[in-house]
This record gives sequence, structure tokens and C-alpha cells, in this order.
Amino acid sequence: MKALLIIGDGMADRPLKELGWKTPLEAANKPSMDHLASMGVCGIMDPIAPGTPPGSDTATLALLGYDVFKVYSGRGAFEALGWGVEVAEGDVCFRCNFATVDENLTVLDRRAGRISNVDASKLAESLKKVKAPREDLEFFFTNTVQHRAVLILRGPKLSAAVSDSDPETNGEKIKEIKPLENTPEAKLTAEVLNALSQKFREVLDGHPVNKERVACGQPPANFVLFRGAGTLPKIKPLSELYGIKASCVAATSLIRGVCRAAGMQLLEAKGATGTPETNYMAKAKAAVQALENNDFVLLHVKAPDVSSHDGNFKQKVEVIEKIDKMLAYILNKVDLGETYLALTADHTTSCITGKHEGDPVPLAIMGPHVRSDDVKEFNERACAKGGLGRLRGKHLMPILMNFLDKVKKFGA
Ligand SMILES: [Zn+2]
Repeated sequence: MKALLIIGDGMADRPLKELGWKTPLEAANKPSMDHLASMGVCGIMDPIAPGTPPGSDTATLALLGYDVFKVYSGRGAFEALGWGVEVAEGDVCFRCNFATVDENLTVLDRRAGRISNVDASKLAESLKKVKAPREDLEFFFTNTVQHRAVLILRGPKLSAAVSDSDPETNGEKIKEIKPLENTPEAKLTAEVLNALSQKFREVLDGHPVNKERVACGQPPANFVLFRGAGTLPKIKPLSELYGIKASCVAATSLIRGVCRAAGMQLLEAKGATGTPETNYMAKAKAAVQALENNDFVLLHVKAPDVSSHDGNFKQKVEVIEKIDKMLAYILNKVDLGETYLALTADHTTSCITGKHEGDPVPLAIMGPHVRSDDVKEFNERACAKGGLGRLRGKHLMPILMNFLDKVKKFGA
């Protein structure tokens, strides 16, 4: 037996006046999702806890069966892992942005005009040569896509309990990095980061790439913003927890990083972008193919979350209908006598507020031995009447693994 978990990022929503008080899932035409719900067992799920708006990283960790209140250690390490950067235990990782600041360190553009990969790579090469502000410390800096980069600090006496330098909006001054707890490690780490920030600034300020950018009327990338400090979570890989081989098909670096931290293999799908224009069918094909030599495959689609953050409910409905076509392909291709299919969202993202919300998400599981219920549609309200009742996100994985006969008996 095998299992495929399909996660529509932020796919759950609240009822919208413009959709006749339906949610996008209720308004969409999605015969395959409804088929999965009617053949399967359904429920609603609080990814973290009732009323707690989840991050995509904590939600995905929870859906992989981990207790996030115990293991979550910040976003930075997941970003680094997701870009393929090696992270060791004790490393403190940050997400970074090349930004444009004025002489008073007011941020003019947090993305430095969405600087090209070519320019960012040249700047990153120069930053790699900067001497670490402390003798016993190493740092690794890598640009990823456009203005984005990751920074890893390695050495003794480091802590991830430090604030961001990123003010998060243009027009505000960059923030001094401060310790978030009263420990020597946090104080030292904040000092190191402020010093490194200054050193980076000095290199970037007179850099030939930036001179050229200014000459061409482009904003110079003259500052690196640090945010989202994190360390590797102390978790056992899924292979060890359940004795399974697991892979993931995802485009978003954060989700890829979470999956890599859980010991999953990262697969590539051509044209998978993490946007509403992603290549849905390439992802479906990659997932179906992966089921041939994996016990568990996670297929993640970022698009519905993107539409929700933009408040674009029409696009969200279209995206859901595209995911439905993707599911139709999967239903047609996989051996349904040997495969459990689970469909859910990692959280609710409201098209009204544009934010992640703490509302539960729908869940449907179809497979050879599920006790199907009377639910006929896949959406927030219909699934609330299903046989799974109301679950926590961390319970999904044991439920799936039990179907795969991978969970040990508790007791005699
Ligand atoms: Zn998410």
C-alpha cells in the first residue's frame, strides 16, 4: 500500500459575499475532488490547533506528523534546505533580501528592483569574501532567485533568538538586530549580525555592479536585509519514524525545506513555479511516477494561497478547478486498489483578509479500506459532516500510515 497526500496551500477559505456566501471550494466546479470525497472518508482539520493561524512551514510539519509546539525552530533553516544548501546542527540560518537603502538607511525598495540573478550572483561572490566579524565564526552567503538569498552562521555561542533587520515595508529605516532573549548567545549573535550587515553594506556601496545599475537607472542593491532566524528542527526522518520511503513534489523553497528536514527526497517537475501559472500536469505526472518507488508522496500546490493573499477569489476558483484536473489525471493513473489518496489544505487563507486564518480545513481520504461516509462534496462545510470528525493536523500522518500498516501497536 502507498499514500499520496495532495496539499492545496491556503485552499480553504471563508464564505464570500461575491460568491453568494460560498467559499471558493464551494463555488468551484471540481468533479474529481467531489468524487474523492464521496468515495472516501472526510473531516475537518485544525492544522495546528483550533483558532491558531498556521504558517505554511508549521502546518506542513504538522501534516507530516510532527508536534510543532515541540520541534519548530524558525523558518530560516527550511529556506536554506529548500534551496539545496547544506545545513548542520547548530547553524543559525536567515532568509535575506538584497535591498535598496538611502544614506540614512531608509529602505527604498526591499527587493532592489527585483534584481536579476546575474547581478545578484556577482554581488554575492564579493560578499562571500568578507571576513567574518568573529574569529571562531564562519558564514555562508548564497543568492537564490532575484533579490532573495540565504545566510548561514556557523560557530560556537550562536542563537536563533534574534530579531530581523528587515522593516518589512518600504519607506522605513532598517532595524537594528536585537537579542530576543537574555542570553550571552543571543546577544553575541545580534552583535555579529549587525557587524556583518555593516561589512556587507561597505562592500555593496561602491560595488561596480551597483555603479552600473545606477548608471542604467536601476536601484542599487546596496544592503542585505536579514530575517526569519532559524535552526534545524530536532526531528527524526519519516524513514525512521515509519520505515517508509518518502518524496515530495513542491516548487516552494519553504515547503521543499520542510520536506527535506523530514528526510524526504525532493523531486523536480518541469514548469512547477509555485504560482497560479504553474505546470499542474507536470506536477501530477511527477507525483504519479514517484508513487512507483515510494511509500509516501506529498504533492504540494502553492497557487491557491497566492490568489488568496491577493484577494483574487475568481482566480482562486480557477486555480481550484485546475487542481481538480490534476487530480483527475492522478485518479486515472494510480492503482486505486493499492493507493490511499488524501486531499487537504495546509491552512485557511481568506480572500477577504488576505491572511492565513485559524479556521479548520477540509480533509478527504480515499483508499481500499476506508470507511466511507455520506459526504459527497469536497469543501469546508460538507467535510465537517464526515466520518473523521475534527482532527489536528499532526494526526493525519498516523491515520495514513495506519492504512499502510506502518504504525506500531500501542500496548499489549
Ligand atoms: Zn501555506
